[in-house]
Amino acid sequence: MNIKCVSCCAISHDMDICNKCGKVIQLDDKMVLYKDTPFENAENWITLFDILNITEQETFSNDILLLKCNQKQEKFHPDKHIYATQFEKLIAMHRASICNRALVTLSDFVSRVEYILQVHRIKEVADDSILKDLFMLNIKFEESDSEGKLQIMTTIKDKVFTLQKLIIKIITLSQYDNVSKYLIELRYLTKMKKNLHNLTILS
Ligand SMILES: [Zn+2]
Repeated sequence: MNIKCVSCCAISHDMDICNKCGKVIQLDDKMVLYKDTPFENAENWITLFDILNITEQETFSNDILLLKCNQKQEKFHPDKHIYATQFEKLIAMHRASICNRALVTLSDFVSRVEYILQVHRIKEVADDSILKDLFMLNIKFEESDSEGKLQIMTTIKDKVFTLQKLIIKIITLSQYDNVSKYLIELRYLTKMKKNLHNLTILS
């Protein structure tokens, strides 16, 4: 990616450290596509994948995600910029904070998939039949005895796992349009799984 260095005004091929002057490249937040960036603006932005130099598929491995993030953080670490000016130190700190935001967005499965859809400008389409099924599951859970509840919890866990695998497969095939119906189901079940988990801890 070619980017202008504010320190020496050269065009740098490296978006982290300027090819010419070796200083940290300043990035304006307005250039980065965050999760809260308005959807319609999702074009020609620096994505969080660019920020961490990671592919969509690679983010599904938490090990690779952490490794890539640490590699980037190292470049912006204060120890590497002891002789920099105060302004240059601030630029490096800001770059490190962008990496952190990227990590937060991409380390959670649902949040990561939501972001992938945002990058590809895919709007989620709600499917009433899925919502109805999930609603029924919730009612069934409320009405079950403790053994029945345990069974439903196992079903939910299995479903979450299966849906995650399916979504990864669809994304790997770049069939982003098909992700949204599974994502809605996954988001709901993940929430339910967390709530049930908290319930069992409390009881
Ligand atoms: Zn430069």
